Parts: sequence; C-alpha cells; structure tokens
Amino acid sequence: MESFAEHYGAMYQTVNRCLPGADMERIDRAVEYARQKHKDQKRKDGSPYIIHPLAVAEIVAEMGLDMEAILGALLHDCIEDTDASFDEISKLFGKTTAELVEGVTKLTRANFSSSEEQQMENLRKMFMAMSKDIRVVLIKIADRLHNMRTMQYQTPAKQISKCRETMDIYAPLAHRLGMQKIKWELEDIALQYLDPGAYERIMNYLSAHKEQDEAFMHTIQEKVTDRLSSMGIHNTTYGRIKHVYSIYRKMTTQDKAIDELYDIYAFRVIVDTIPNCYNVLGHIHDLFNLVPGRFKDYISTPKPNMYQSLHTTVIGNQGIPFEVQIRTWEMHETAEYGIAAHWKYKQGGAAGDEKDFEWVRRLLESQQDTDAEDYVVSLKIDMFDDEVFVFTPRGKIVSLPAGSTPIDFAYMIHSGVGNALVGAKVNNRICNIDTPLENGDIVEIITSKSAKGPSRDWLNICKSNQARTKIKQWFKKEKREENIAHGKASFEAEMKRLQLPMSALSDGELEAQLLKKLAFDNWDDMYAAIGYGGLTAAKAVGRIRDDINRATRAPVDKNTNPLKTVEDTRQNRHAVNGVIVEDIDSCMIKFSRCCTPVPGDAIVGFITKGFGVSIHRADCPNTVHRDDPRQAARWVRVRWASQDEQPFETTLELDCITRDGLLLDVATAMTTARIRVRELSGKDLPGGRSVFTVRFEVKNVAELEAVRNRLLNIRDVTGSRRGQN
Ligand code: MN
Repeated sequence: MESFAEHYGAMYQTVNRCLPGADMERIDRAVEYARQKHKDQKRKDGSPYIIHPLAVAEIVAEMGLDMEAILGALLHDCIEDTDASFDEISKLFGKTTAELVEGVTKLTRANFSSSEEQQMENLRKMFMAMSKDIRVVLIKIADRLHNMRTMQYQTPAKQISKCRETMDIYAPLAHRLGMQKIKWELEDIALQYLDPGAYERIMNYLSAHKEQDEAFMHTIQEKVTDRLSSMGIHNTTYGRIKHVYSIYRKMTTQDKAIDELYDIYAFRVIVDTIPNCYNVLGHIHDLFNLVPGRFKDYISTPKPNMYQSLHTTVIGNQGIPFEVQIRTWEMHETAEYGIAAHWKYKQGGAAGDEKDFEWVRRLLESQQDTDAEDYVVSLKIDMFDDEVFVFTPRGKIVSLPAGSTPIDFAYMIHSGVGNALVGAKVNNRICNIDTPLENGDIVEIITSKSAKGPSRDWLNICKSNQARTKIKQWFKKEKREENIAHGKASFEAEMKRLQLPMSALSDGELEAQLLKKLAFDNWDDMYAAIGYGGLTAAKAVGRIRDDINRATRAPVDKNTNPLKTVEDTRQNRHAVNGVIVEDIDSCMIKFSRCCTPVPGDAIVGFITKGFGVSIHRADCPNTVHRDDPRQAARWVRVRWASQDEQPFETTLELDCITRDGLLLDVATAMTTARIRVRELSGKDLPGGRSVFTVRFEVKNVAELEAVRNRLLNIRDVTGSRRGQN
C-alpha cells in the first residue's frame, strides 16, 4: 500500500524543481479537489485512488510541461470516474485545464486495441486526431506509464491486453515525439508481461555479468574522461547497458543468443558546444579502433523526431565493441524529453515563441512522411482534420473524409453493403444514415435483401468520392428507364430556361452535329447519363447552346445591331447564363476573359459587334472607357439572376515559393473542395518563385473566396490574384 503523503511529497518536490515559481496554492486546490472526488475509490492494490493522479502529475512535471498540464494530470480521471463536470473544472481551474481533462477522457473511452498490423498506423493517427492538443497526448502517455509501473496488480488477461496496447500505440507515440526515456521504460515493462521467459533470461544474464560489465564500462569511461580533461574539454561521460527490449529485439531479429550480441553497451559523452562534439569524435577514434560503416552524423542531419547526436562504434583493447553517442546538453534534453523539452525551453524564457512554434511544427510534420501536408500545429493538432477514423463492429478501422456518414461507411466496406443499406447503428444506437461520423465511432450497417437501393439524395449527403461513384454506378446500371425520364426532364427544363427549341434535337443534320459535340450515340444515352448524375443538364446544354443558336438564329447575326433583333415582347426579363441585361431580353451573353466575373461581383455589360453582350467586372481595367461618349451607348446595365446555380468559370493566379509537390497540393485542395478545375498550370520564375494559374468553376463570389482561402492556406502559397486575360 502506498500513501498519499509519500506521493504528494514527491509530486510537490518535482513541480518545485521542474517548474520553479509555480503557483503551488493552485496545485494544492487541484489535489484537494481530486482527492475529494476520488475519495471512495481505491487502486487495485488497495491504495487510495488519489496516488495515481499524483504520480501522473509528477511524471508530467518531470517532462517539463506547464501548469495547465500538471493541473490536467491531477484531474485527468475526474470526468471519467467521478461526478465532476467539464463546466465545474472549467470554472475552478480554467478552460484550458478543463479541455485537457476532457481530451484525456475521450482517449480513455476510446478503444485502441486492434490486432492487425496495418491498422496500427491508423490507430496512432486516430489517437493524435482525437487529442487536438499535444499536451493531452503527453498526459495520456504519463497516465499509461504509471499504469504500467503498477501493472502487477492487474489480472493476467488485463496485463496482456494493456501491454500489447502499450507496444502498439504508446511506445511508438513516445518514440515519434522523441521521448526515448519513456519509450524504453514502456517497452521494458511491456516485455516483462508479453514474453516473461525471455525477459527473465536477459535479466539473469545481465545480473550475472553485472560486475564484469561495470568494470568494463568504468575502464572505458576513465580512459575517455582522462583524455578529454587533459585536452581541456569539459565533459560528462558515462556508460550504460542498452535497455532490455532493445537487446530482446536484437536477439530476435538477428536470431542470436545474448552473448553473441555485439554492442549492448552504449556510452554517452555530453559536452557544451557542437564543435566539441566533433573534437570528442576525433579523440574517440584516436583512442579506440573504429568499426567501419557505423558512424552516423545526426547533428548535421537530425532524425525526424529531432534527435541529434554523433554515433560511432569502436572496439577497445578487450575486443568488446561499444557504441559512443556524442551530444550537447541541449541535444541531450531533446533526446530524453522530445517534444516536451519544448516547454522547458519556453519556460526558460530564452527562446522566442516563434522559434518554439517552428520546433513543434517541424517535429510533428517530419513524422508524416507521405501523409497529407495541410495541417497546422501550434499547441493544437489539426493534422488529421480532413479525415475521420471509425471502427467496424469487429474492430477494423476505416478512414473516411471528415464529415462522412454511414452511407460513406457502407460503400467503403462494399458496394453491395451500400446498395442494401436500410439503416445504421452508431455506437450501438440506431441513428440516421446522414449522421456525420466522429473519430472512434463504432459503425454498424443494417442491410436488407429487399432494400430498394440507394436514393438520389444520397449523392448530396455522402462525402467520399468512392460512395458517390458507386451510387452513380448503381443508377447507371439498375435504373436506365428512370434515368432517361429523369434526365430528359432536367434537360428540357434547362433548354426551356435558355429558350432553346427542343425541335433542334430532331433536326436532321443539326441533330448529328449536336450528338457528336456531346459525344453520345443517341439522346436516350445522354438522358440516362444526366439521370444517373454522370453529366449535368446545364453542362450538356452549355455544350450545344452555341450550335443551336447559330443554326436557329442565323439571320439575327447578320444584322449590324444585335439590339434591334431581340424580340422584346415580354415584360419579364429572362436570365441568360445567369445574367439579366436591363432592357434587353434573350440576347447572347458571354463572360469576358479579361476579368472572369462570377455571381456576386458588381458587373457591367458591353454590346459587342455581332457577339451579344460581354460581361465585365465593374472594376475591370477594360471598363475605364465607360464614360467615353463615343462608346457610352454600348455600355448597358446588367445584373445577376439571383436564383441561378449555374457554375461560372474564373481564374486565380497564385504566387508561390517553388517547391516539389506544390502543384499536387493545389490540385488536392481543389479536389477536396469539390471544385471543377478546367486548367491548372504553373511556371517557375527566377529567384525560387513560381506562379500557378488555376481556371475553375464556382457558383458565386462566396465560393470563390472560400476556394481562395483554401489555396492561400497551402504551405508556400504566398499570394493570389483574380486572373487577367
Ligand atoms: Mn488514469
């Protein structure tokens, strides 16, 4: 049984040491609060529950985290295990602390056990995605570390499952975050339960050779220290045996007995400056024989988790090889505490916030390797915002675009499941099939043999391209008659809206010309395509509009003044291409290429010779002659037809810093925004800069601005301009 006083004292001292000047009164209030809340609970060994949060807070303080994180650690089990609420904690200890506690609670509730190897990366991503604030991950790792340290009180079944989870999730995360010390401890404890025989054999071997090992390490240490001191290099040098799990891995991967293993010894030389690291390296290579091919310079090329050191392996005169790691104190700190060292430096007040921010960002970013790059990390983790990770009832993880619904999930499993979908359960409760899924949800699809198949509405509900494609395929195959009827109706409506005669479609020569333009063999095929969503009616009509106009209104174009040719018999103005020209009905409209206006822009029209009215943005440089009396009569007032949803083409030019993969990032951003891109090109300029031109379709200015913001959020995109010409 462990006592409150003992743990409280240890925590108190560690906080004082690691967070000098901390408001201990605030800490005490949190301790008292947690103690009250947990007062009826006991740990498995019979100790009062409060010793667990105290121990976790001590680890968190040891990591060097801040006040909020320590408070969060003290309160981390309150929401899950007691009647404490987010609001209460928020009121008493601040919103940040409450958010940290809530974040830890979410992770506690989620199930991170999965047996399949390829699912591990997704599990770790989900873990990070659910955490949002990196401190939540760190508190959770500290929580796990203390639970591992007290694992002996758990049942054997629980020991195995917790240790597996530690190996699969927590140790790799600690490694990813650069926290070697914690990673090693987690692995060694887990091995103890997962392969007790091997653990014991290694421990027995090590303890049998303890004296021998220590004598060896002492000799080497002395030799190194003597040399460096005589050269005036201030150093801290020590030897250690590598941790048990790393010896275990060497044995299993190299299939060797422990006494056949080489390099189980590692020495560290810690010095004050980087030049001295290289000086030390020279002396080591002078004192001992170098093992070729083992030298690594992680100072000039840090590891992805920011680890820096020089590594070399040498052989002393006893013929025993050993590794030497040479680093500065700052590198040492980073190697031991990883991302948490960030707070240590920050509290020192020396480094600016900007630099710290960069440090964390790079640390997390460099881990991503091939993953999408558009995430921002300050203290928040937004890197997986585009994805949501959910489980099948059997524990398999499915990754979907954020905002996905059970419909997307069903089609991700199999098109047969999607087509037979009649309902869904999320976390064991029946819910609507358009409910957005959240990280960690367990999703079960209810299917029926008598299901009528997908509904057209699903195309608007689902978020994944996979689901949309499969739904369209179904309509294409199963519902040709219905598709034709459906497609024909929308096509006719569109023709009517643009005042184009349906009779053009059966007009011998013209019919063939139009079908060719549309790339269909007959009208039914085209109606079917519109019906299942492969083509929009607006697009189809748009493609043949000019041909029909030319054929049916040919005499009109010969007239010198297009204004006079327009029948103006109706009172109601008709929108053409979404634009209403005041005083003129049904004239030809074209959008100027110089300023590519979209709905919402202020616009003016200019009557061209023979090509109808061309629409410019009011601020287009080409409209400056509006007041010129010779042309004034040709400028007409125009406005957008409000309810029109037809897409408009526009162009953005992006100023960028040249980078491989940037074009792909732009393309990806456009795809995820569901924007139809007509043209995407880039050219490099001198000085490491590039300009990209994106021509695409939007419905209005609001959408255009949304796209523009999205593009500006891409790394290395520095500016944007509405396209000229
Ligand atoms: Mn806990």
